[in-house]
Amino acid sequence: MATIIDGKLISQQIQEELTIEVNAIKANGSKLPHLAAVLVGNDGASETYVGAKVKACEKVGFKSTMVRLAADTTEKELLFIIEGLNNDPDIDGYIVQLPLPKHIDEQKIMMAIAPEKDVDGFHPQNVGRMALNLPTYLPATPFGIMQLLERYKIDTVGKYCVVIGRSHIVGSPMSILMARNTNPGNCTVTMCHSKTADLKAFTLKADIIIVALGKPEFLTADMVKDGVVVIDVGITRVASTQTKSGFKLLGDVKYDEVAAKSSFITPVPGGVGPMTIASLLVNTLKSSRKEVYK
Ligand code: NAD
Repeated sequence: MATIIDGKLISQQIQEELTIEVNAIKANGSKLPHLAAVLVGNDGASETYVGAKVKACEKVGFKSTMVRLAADTTEKELLFIIEGLNNDPDIDGYIVQLPLPKHIDEQKIMMAIAPEKDVDGFHPQNVGRMALNLPTYLPATPFGIMQLLERYKIDTVGKYCVVIGRSHIVGSPMSILMARNTNPGNCTVTMCHSKTADLKAFTLKADIIIVALGKPEFLTADMVKDGVVVIDVGITRVASTQTKSGFKLLGDVKYDEVAAKSSFITPVPGGVGPMTIASLLVNTLKSSRKEVYK
């Protein structure tokens, strides 16, 4: 019987821990951690994500600022706003919600964010620090997964870990983190992607599989061995006649049949998803305490 990794519960625990920290900050009259979020345009999904991040800040007692910009904001105007956030001493960290409108070069924007305020951990300087195991802001989703492995005391040392997907926000950082000389970590890692030949040959040997490719129910029971640890990052909205909303969320794992062979597994929803916001808040607290860039 698999242990179901409850990301909702762990995320709540982390947010409760943060509230205690904020109360201590308030009690000694220090400046509250302050996160800003920049949203360009009015993409529905992005509005929901940013709204949830701002709400979570308020819940734990952080200050938050929402910077809403019109869809036709120019790259130059956005760079000007970013310079303002970089130079504002009250803002500890900020995020620029992706995707940006097509006329704005995302890479250029990411590079303009001051690394010490890059609480999403996407700036190349922070990615490099992660690879070198130096203090940094870990990107939110991989950081959340590391927290789940740690808090469920999942033994990773010497294990064989297969990561499916090589995106810059999940697959690639996950493969680096699992291979580092840290705990969790110390795995032997293979990163698989769309051009991998015979993926099943790798997954069948894996002790830990982290699946982040965005293809619903892709990982099936015949691809895994008994006792495997499965972390499902995928979230895809599919039409459903069984829900009021008319859709449901599916992960990248065929849950019931894979769970039957697993020792630990994350559900979708309620697994990795809720951890992302908690990680962002932890990064913001770290920034306000100058724990990464002293
Ligand atoms: P992406 O779309 O940027 O990349 C997908 C990756 O999957 C690519 O690297 C590609 O090489 C690989 N891939 C595609 N088909 C494959 C195949 N047949 N075999 C092996 N590899 C294959 O992905 P992403 O942005 O990392 O997102 C992946 C999923 O995770 C999506 O469903 C996304 O919604 C979800 N996601 C969830 C969270 C969260 O907070 N839970 C955060 C980020 C992404």
